[in-house]
Amino acid sequence: MPPLEEFIPYLSEIWESKWLTNAGAFHQRLEQELADYLGVEYLSLFSNGTIALVTALQSLRISGEVITTPYSFVATAHSLLWNNIKPVFVDIDPASFNLDASAIEAAITPATTAIMPVHCYGNPCDVERIQKIADTYGLRVIYDAAHAFGIRYKGESLLKHGDLSVLSFHATKVFNTFEGGAIICPDAKTKQRIDYLKNFGFADEVTVVAPGINGKMNEVQAAFGVLQLRYLDRAINARRQIDDLYRRDLAGIAGITAFQPNPNATQNYSYFPILVNDSYPLSRDTLYLRLKEEGILSRRYFYPLISEMPMYRGLPSAMPGKLTKAKRIAEEVLCLPIYPDLALADQERIINIVREAK
Ligand SMILES: *Cc1c(COP(=O)(O)O)cnc(C)c1O
Repeated sequence: MPPLEEFIPYLSEIWESKWLTNAGAFHQRLEQELADYLGVEYLSLFSNGTIALVTALQSLRISGEVITTPYSFVATAHSLLWNNIKPVFVDIDPASFNLDASAIEAAITPATTAIMPVHCYGNPCDVERIQKIADTYGLRVIYDAAHAFGIRYKGESLLKHGDLSVLSFHATKVFNTFEGGAIICPDAKTKQRIDYLKNFGFADEVTVVAPGINGKMNEVQAAFGVLQLRYLDRAINARRQIDDLYRRDLAGIAGITAFQPNPNATQNYSYFPILVNDSYPLSRDTLYLRLKEEGILSRRYFYPLISEMPMYRGLPSAMPGKLTKAKRIAEEVLCLPIYPDLALADQERIINIVREAK
């Protein structure tokens, strides 16, 4: 967390201006600073990532069926149900944990209107291949980029791919505004429509152009974002060192494999996923519990699959036999603690528990 005393002047400014929300000064400033930092053209802030996902789909009038991944946080698929869209799950690529681009075409039907992939752990999807399929079949692509803050792919912002990308600034993410999110879009017209939609559909004082929602980010959140952005490079650097040490010290432990990120992309080190397979002395769940007994909170992220949840498991595409790779990864994955002020001694304790388990 940035120093509290640096947040106080921002709060004073908000108190004095009495402008608490509705595209205030900090909101405008954060939109600009984030667009600059991320290297994107247009960005619209939201109260959270989920409302941003729901709104992104509405802004392009997505309907019918959307192809997506079962290996994500539930909000990805929930945003489809909130728009009355049928999710069509496609298995993942076991190397990237992302939607398997080679399996997308087989899932396209006349009702398909879009693809909603997730850049899992900030690791880029096969954006070129996905775009090619979208172009061929006339589909839109909306990336759930909740993990992909600041990621650059082949020298450019990853967030420029697809029609829209959606970020989350939840407290657990690399960059946070307590709760928050954003939609990245390619042009001013699209941003205009998104801005209407997040403000009840108001185009001006008396004109309502859509049944919009209240998805606005308030001034206190935006001010925290402005402050946090100044400390972000330091935070990511600290995460990188933690990532390096895990990678070095966990290498060679039988049954443990660290996730390998795409070498053509930068990283934000927001997660440290490992796979725990049969040659490890403990099951993934036993290791999870062992760590928990020691006061260490790892996360089975993502487990269970979205397609196994009651509101999705009845879908034809949710049949476990069709999602075997996602199922295996969900059963083996464990995300180890990684955050900027994780103390070296604590990290070494985590590594030792993993190494010495029998
Ligand atoms: C965090 C997250 C979301 C939801 O974002 P919120 O800001 O918590 O609403 C959506 N998708 C993925 C992949 C996430 O990790």
